[in-house]
Amino acid sequence: MHQIIIIGSGPAGFTAAIYAARAGLKPLLFASSVAIGGELMNTTEVENFPGFPEGIQGPDLMQKMQEQAERFDTEIVYDDITEVDFSGDIKRVTSSDGTVHEAHAVIYATGSAYRKLGLADEDRLSGHGVSWCATCDGFFFREKTIAVVGGGDSAMEEATFLTRFADKVYVIHRRDELKASKIMQQRAFDNPKIEFIWNSGISAIHGESQVTGVTLQSTVDGTERELALDGLFIAIGNDPRTHLVHGKLELTSEGTIAVEGRSSRTSVPGVFAAGDVIDPSYRQAITAAGSGTVAALDAEHYIAARDQQEATAAAAV
Ligand SMILES: Cc1cc2nc3c(=O)[nH]c(=O)nc-3n(C[C@H](O)[C@H](O)[C@H](O)COP(=O)(O)OP(=O)(O)OC[C@H]3O[C@@H](n4cnc5c(N)ncnc54)[C@H](O)[C@@H]3O)c2cc1C
Repeated sequence: MHQIIIIGSGPAGFTAAIYAARAGLKPLLFASSVAIGGELMNTTEVENFPGFPEGIQGPDLMQKMQEQAERFDTEIVYDDITEVDFSGDIKRVTSSDGTVHEAHAVIYATGSAYRKLGLADEDRLSGHGVSWCATCDGFFFREKTIAVVGGGDSAMEEATFLTRFADKVYVIHRRDELKASKIMQQRAFDNPKIEFIWNSGISAIHGESQVTGVTLQSTVDGTERELALDGLFIAIGNDPRTHLVHGKLELTSEGTIAVEGRSSRTSVPGVFAAGDVIDPSYRQAITAAGSGTVAALDAEHYIAARDQQEATAAAAV
């Protein structure tokens, strides 16, 4: 029986592990079998994580977080959790080899996934001109020509934000009207740096070591044309990784795990959630890390209160 099981090895999971381990709770952390280190493994330069004035490569930052968690005796398992049972006082999670692991508390920090276009070179050029995060990467595109794909509020927000840096921002959209709210649309329409390319999808992304352009395909007649670009921002949605907890934890209308106020407490006592899986708005490494801290402290208090109750009950016998 473990005190705390942490599911996820992104900034939220590793930060929760550092705090829980330093509190002597010997956390068991499931890092997944393939995506160890979380979303930052898919990027190159991270310039906005405090403490690294020269910037740091995403994978190096995650390696450092992992080393810090291990230094304080976090046990890391390179496997996925495939099932969870939060119904009783003892929480049970099953790893992909079928082993059931038990703990008094669970921290759920599985992150979220940006939707992809599904193109051959999308992953290869991630961090080399292809991005899912204007806040993270806009700064790298000063005086460049870039495009945003999408037609919702976040696409309009990203396009408008990116005009602070880029000389030209195309918005590529599959239809001839936007899903975005009227106010966000108007802000984008009024921006002289933004040009809309309607009724178009992207059929290929080009570039050897850096994005050089895309092939646009008309959604009306299928014709193709080339568009030279320095960068491509994909803003077609984001899915919190909650499939294991559907029907087991309360979710918000945005699909994230619901937590009580600023805490990490979910609808089930003893289950805490942290990072992008609870965050529909900010989704940054530092906010995920801060959220991991909150979860570790909440779990620590929960376990201490539980131990106290047990001691009181034992003394009363
Ligand atoms: C390309 C890209 C670039 C970015 N650049 C920046 C940047 O420069 N600065 C910045 O602040 N933010 C950046 N972000 C955002 C940042 O990466 C995220 O906000 C942050 O990683 C979220 O941390 P997290 O711990 O909540 O989740 P994640 O990093 O997504 O980690 C979740 C972890 O949980 C694991 N997991 C999921 N399900 C299971 C399971 N069932 N069993 C076991 N493990 C599981 C996953 O494999 C993953 O390791 C970027 C994001 C992307 C996609």
